[in-house]
Parts: sequence; structure tokens; C-alpha cells
Amino acid sequence: MKTIGLLGGMSWESSALYYQKINQHIHTQLGGFHSAKLILLSVDFAYIEELQKQALWEQAGHYLAEQAQKLVLAGADCIVLCTNTMHKVAATIEATISIPFLHIADATALNILQTGCNRVGLLGTAFTMEQDFYRARLEEQGIQVLIPNTVQRKVVHDVIYNELCLGQVNTASKQQYIEIVEDLITKGAQGIILGCTEICMLIGDVNFSVPTFDTTTIHAQAAVNFALTDKVKTL
Ligand code: GLU
Repeated sequence: MKTIGLLGGMSWESSALYYQKINQHIHTQLGGFHSAKLILLSVDFAYIEELQKQALWEQAGHYLAEQAQKLVLAGADCIVLCTNTMHKVAATIEATISIPFLHIADATALNILQTGCNRVGLLGTAFTMEQDFYRARLEEQGIQVLIPNTVQRKVVHDVIYNELCLGQVNTASKQQYIEIVEDLITKGAQGIILGCTEICMLIGDVNFSVPTFDTTTIHAQAAVNFALTDKVKTL
């Protein structure tokens, strides 16, 4: 079994889910007392969030690349960056490491294509929903991406930072998210990407009329596939 390198803390609420899900997947596949071989390097999210707010992406990229190198030195065989948003600086991290970087959007695209969907709604931070780094990666695979309208995007973004990253799961916010998802379905979404690693805490248990793609679960599964097969699944 390979050793998974988790670069987490963004936020720690979802990194805890990665730890749990990776171990559950390993146990499902291997049974017995098997558990994951992994190293978690968890950053202080307050620092990262400040860099995001100030749009200091280059600085954030260099900082996360340094942390990824520490995981390499510690013996990690791959890097799993436990956040969708910070994949904005994935190229900077990838350029400085000699081990595979398991991109969350690639794992998600693979999952979407396997279900036969080609038009999906995307929920995530404003950075993820509005900028190109994530959507373009999906669109390159022939997946059309719908995003909520301006007012809805603000709701989705604010709930992530003001509630979910702080471990708060509120019924009123859940209802707002459900309405936003239903609106995306009405507009033609054949599936919904939970494109922020904390969103599953809020609506992961809701049964919509279309499939949801929970990026935390998908990314954790991709890490386990890598650890057990030695290979990165490609599109
Ligand atoms: N975990 C979140 C994501 O998947 C948001 C926190 C962050 O900005 O990294 O995008």
C-alpha cells in the first residue's frame, strides 16, 4: 500500500472527513484491521483565508508548495490537496514535487463522465464557481458547467466561510442550498457537484432528483485507488 500525503486544514472540518473516508474505503476494500497509510499536514486556515481575501494567490501557491515538499520528505507517495478552492494554485504545487498530485477536478470529471452526465451544476466558493481554474478543467472533458445566479452564489459562498468552515450546520442554510440546487436542476443540470469539501456536511444526506458528486468522497476514493493500485486513474 502506498502512503497518501494529505495537505489539509482548509478547513480542518473537511480534512477530518478525508481522514475518515479514506480509512473507511481502505477498510471496505481490504477488510480486517486494515487502515490507510497516510501523512496529514494541516495548515492554519486563517493564514490561507487571508491570502484568498487579498488575492495573494502566488504567495499561497508558494506556501502550499513548500508544505507539499515537506510531505514528500516525510515519505508521501502522492499529494492530495484537501480543498477545491486552493486547486487554483495546483500548477505551482505540481511544479515543485516529483510525486503524483491527485487533482480533485480530474477525479470529479471522471466520476461525472462514468455516470453519463454532461451538464452539471457547480456549488463551491465564489472562487471555484466564478473563476476558470476549476470549471475549465471540467469543460475540457466535455462537461458543461452551470453555476447559480449572483445572489445565490453569495449565499453559497457565505455559508461556506461563515458556517461550514467553522463547523456550523444550520437548517435554514440547508433549505437555501436545496432551493439553489433545485433551481439548477430546473435549468438543466443533470447532476450537482458539491464542489467545496465542506458542502457534504450540509446537503450530503439530501436525495435530489439528479445525482450529486461529492468532491470530498470522490477525492478520498481517488486517493485510495492510488494507494492500492499504484496508478493514477486518468480520463
Ligand atoms: N474547503 C473548501 C473548498 O473545497 C473551501 C475552503 C477553502 O477556501 O479552501 O473549496
